[in-house]
Amino acid sequence: MYCKDTDRYMDECGVFGIFGTEEASVLTTLGLHSLQHRGQEGAGIVSFDGNNFHSVRKQGLVGDNFNNTNILSQLPGKTAIGHVRYSTTGESKPENLQPLFANLAIGGFACAHNGNLTNTYSIKKKLVESGSIFQTSSDTEIILQLVAKSKKKKLIDKLIDALKQIKGAYSLIILTNKKLIGVRDPFGIRPLVLGEKDGSPVLASETCALDMIGAKYIRDVENGEIIIITENSTESIKPFKRVPERPCIFERIYFASPDSMVGKKTVYTYRKSLGEQLAKENSVAADVVVPIPDSGVSAAIGFSQKSSIPFELGIIRSHYVGRTFIEPSQTIRQFGVKLKHSVNKSCIENKKVILIDDSIVRGTTASKIVKMVYEAGAKEVHLGISCPPIMHPDFYGIDTPNYNELIASQSDLNEMTKLVGAKSLFFLSLAGTYKAMGCDKRNPITPQFTDHCFTGEYPIDVSEILEINKKINEKR
Ligand code: AMP
Repeated sequence: MYCKDTDRYMDECGVFGIFGTEEASVLTTLGLHSLQHRGQEGAGIVSFDGNNFHSVRKQGLVGDNFNNTNILSQLPGKTAIGHVRYSTTGESKPENLQPLFANLAIGGFACAHNGNLTNTYSIKKKLVESGSIFQTSSDTEIILQLVAKSKKKKLIDKLIDALKQIKGAYSLIILTNKKLIGVRDPFGIRPLVLGEKDGSPVLASETCALDMIGAKYIRDVENGEIIIITENSTESIKPFKRVPERPCIFERIYFASPDSMVGKKTVYTYRKSLGEQLAKENSVAADVVVPIPDSGVSAAIGFSQKSSIPFELGIIRSHYVGRTFIEPSQTIRQFGVKLKHSVNKSCIENKKVILIDDSIVRGTTASKIVKMVYEAGAKEVHLGISCPPIMHPDFYGIDTPNYNELIASQSDLNEMTKLVGAKSLFFLSLAGTYKAMGCDKRNPITPQFTDHCFTGEYPIDVSEILEINKKINEKR
């Protein structure tokens, strides 16, 4: 979804769905709660009771809105899907909250989407010119419109017809009067897993949502796969041209919950390995390793263990300031960093400190924290980042800004070091990032990622988005 107010695509989201169980909406609420890290702006659930669809969508956190029997009694039925959406200003309008629902000629159709389409503009233009009326500014609505307009007879064929017209990243959970459907785009950029709770199939963005409701992990939904769940069967089809899987590397670096399983390991394990690899590549004489919490904690543990420099909680994070608080204007964002982090002086004073974080985007967090640590009496502050410099924006569903706001896109290492105010700044190499994941970018037999944030290699064409961004910038 493109937000013209902030010049950004903003669709960090989480999706969940469960089929055929008495407490579908309660379990969906719990699943969404565990996916809250994927989006805090709003949450929604659509349930189906055998006759009617019911929808509740609320701005704010899952726990603040879906916390009472009154709300949950508005969501009866044995099947439900849900969605959490990223927090930001701009187009944070209630109508953009998901799941989106439409009464199509073939019946009700609810859709929850994680990811970002890259040909939204051209498809929407065509649809509008042919008479479609849009109620939201969400790219997900395009999918509903394309399904509605498809000339195919069966619902699944209509869906495939629609999906073949869209480009981009999408993990979808769809609910109809007979089916729960999971879809992962041909490259599998955003995650989606299949599980089972006491015989009821479950779909979710991450395994942490399965753990939350005591569901068993069955397998990942494969790239380009559509899973169709009905009363009697779970069927899998792969209607797209097969391409190698390219999941987003940033899920493992920053986005996914540390306790979620990816492959046979938890995300925490990968992040710890990233920290170990960072220590292998950079030896810095220091007294303490301090994570920027929470994002840098796993990597800092790995860094500390590998370098044998003691790990200390030199920065304390307030858990009462969510990402929600940090509004995307630069002045407020700077204030937000102070609200979020404070220094634990006793670990810092007169020490040579290595701060560790998982990534630098604009550099706001890093520069604030380096300053705070020096003010607390550190002798030296070094900053280690457990991924390569983010040089390119994401257009596939992770909220990163345009080129002109990405510090690594605008500055070289020396300039960045000065901007963040550290004595030294070091990043993990791309080869080291792959190595920490147990992969090798030069060896396609090992799993490959989309690493466009670091390399600018976008597996799905983003020229339409770049073109629109260029026009917006020229107008300014
Ligand atoms: P910045 O302060 O703009 O440099 O952002 C870097 C901080 O935000 C780091 O602590 C990251 O863990 C975190 N971060 C990285 N990517 C994102 C993202 N897409 N959305 C929100 N926060 C992020």
